[in-house]
Amino acid sequence: MVSSADYDSYLARKVAALVRENFPEKAVTNLFVIRWGRKSKSVLGKIKPLKDKEYGSIIEINSRLKSVDVPEYVLDYVLMHELVHYFQGFGSNHAQKSKYPHKGKVVEKELERLGWGEVMGRAERWIKENWRDTAIE
Ligand SMILES: [Zn+2]
Repeated sequence: MVSSADYDSYLARKVAALVRENFPEKAVTNLFVIRWGRKSKSVLGKIKPLKDKEYGSIIEINSRLKSVDVPEYVLDYVLMHELVHYFQGFGSNHAQKSKYPHKGKVVEKELERLGWGEVMGRAERWIKENWRDTAIE
C-alpha cells in the first residue's frame, strides 16, 4: 500500500531531479514548495507566489495525477510546464520573461528548447484522449 507520505516524497524527489537535470544554470531563489492539490476537473497544475514572490513559490499538482493509470511522462510534463513558469518569472522572483505567462507559446518554446518537445506532444495527446477539458495553468 502506498501512503500519502510516499506520494509526497515521490513528488518532491521528482521535481528536484527535474530542476537539476533541466535547469542546471538556474537557481531556486526563494522558498520553493510543491504539493498535491485537489482533484480538479479542469486544472492539472498551477504555480503561485507563497505569501509573496520574494518569499516563496508554491506549485500545486492535481491529485488525479497520482493515479496508476496516468503515465509518468504526463506528470513529468505538467511539472516541467510549471517549472518553466517558475524560471520565466511567473509565480516566482525570477526576472519576468514576457508580459503574460502563455503569450506567444513561451512555455512550449522553452520546453522544445530543453528537449521536451516529444514528451510534450505525447502528454498533450494523452491528456486530450483521457481528460478532455483539462488544462495546465
Ligand atoms: Zn501554464
